[in-house]
Parts: sequence; structure tokens; C-alpha cells
Amino acid sequence: MKYLVSVTIAVAVLVIAGFYFFYPGSQDTMEQIDVATQPTLGEEEAEVTIIEFGDYKCPACKVWDETVFQQLKDDYIENGQANFAFINAPFHGAESMLAALASESVWHNHPEAFWEYHEALYHAQPEAAGHDAQWVTVDELLRVAAEDVDQEIDLEVLTNDLLEQTYSEQVEEDIELVQEHDIQLTPTIVINGHVIEDPFDYEEIVETIQSEL
Ligand code: CA
Repeated sequence: MKYLVSVTIAVAVLVIAGFYFFYPGSQDTMEQIDVATQPTLGEEEAEVTIIEFGDYKCPACKVWDETVFQQLKDDYIENGQANFAFINAPFHGAESMLAALASESVWHNHPEAFWEYHEALYHAQPEAAGHDAQWVTVDELLRVAAEDVDQEIDLEVLTNDLLEQTYSEQVEEDIELVQEHDIQLTPTIVINGHVIEDPFDYEEIVETIQSEL
């Protein structure tokens, strides 16, 4: 009898554990990440903060930027319900680092031009380039700043910042956040501490935002 009770309890524990581990709606959660020093779009006081850990070399990030991000701006950021922050997760080597340095430079010298430059960088990524196609160069980062952004970006400052790696410390701080929060993939989207399982599942994103509003 005792044996039977133990087995029953063990089975119940396994079933409950399985439910929590495999329940499809479960999300990883983490404490709120401080985005005070990160580029942020939208109302500072918004109830919801959406964070993208992204890499300008990442093809999925380009697609996410051109689809889901545009939808989020229309549905939640422009009306002040959510704000949006970008953190570099430069997973694809020297080119990822260089693009991250460029975006940090623009953020620090021309914050008003940041989001236009951010989107223009993703847009400049060649279609279907894959992670390994080489396209991020100092010349290309300057060309995007000069030609693809309406706001004025000082090209001399940007050139100097890229050659001198002026904002390498800021990129390192982002990489520390990536490691601290065990970010493995780009884009990773975190909404008020909830890690979105599938960044392209707009329904999951909407449900998570709505539960925080
Ligand atoms: Ca940053």
C-alpha cells in the first residue's frame, strides 16, 4: 500500500513538472532590464517596455524589423502604451561589432536620427545574404548615414568613432547584458521581463503586452 502511494505521488509530481516544463504557453521571465542608457523609442512613462536584442548582421532581425516592429509601432508604441529599446547582441563577428559601434555612435551624437539609422541598417542588409555574406564596412555604414537617413549625421564624427572604436565600452555593456540574461538567439524580444518564445508570433506578443497593460 505504502509502495502504491509513493508511486502515485511520484507520477503526480512528474505530471505536474511536465505540465510546467512543456506547457506551450509558458514563458521565461527575467527581472526588468534597465534600458536607461539604451536607445528608446516612445513614451518614457509607458506601462510596457519591449526590448529587442538584435544584430544588424542577422537576417531574421532584418525581417523582424521590417514586419513585426512596424506593426508594434502602429499598434502600441505610437499611442504611448509601449516603448521600445534596442540592445546590441553582436553574434556574427567583426561586422556585427562594427555595425553595433556605428549605431552606438549615432545614438550618442544624433539621438534624433537613431531609429531612422537603425532601420536603414537593417534595410541595407542584402536580401537573403545569410550570416556569412560580407556587407558591413566603414564605407557602407557611412553611405547609409549619408544617403538613407533624412536626419543629418556628421560623417566625420561617425568615421572617427568607427576607426577609433569610440563606443566599444557601450557595445561591451550590451554584450554583458546578453551574457547575464543568457540571450542565445537574435532577435530575442523581451516584454516587461517576459521572453517571447517566437518573436514572429504576433499573437503571443499581443497577449503578453495586453496582460501587462
Ligand atoms: Ca546599447
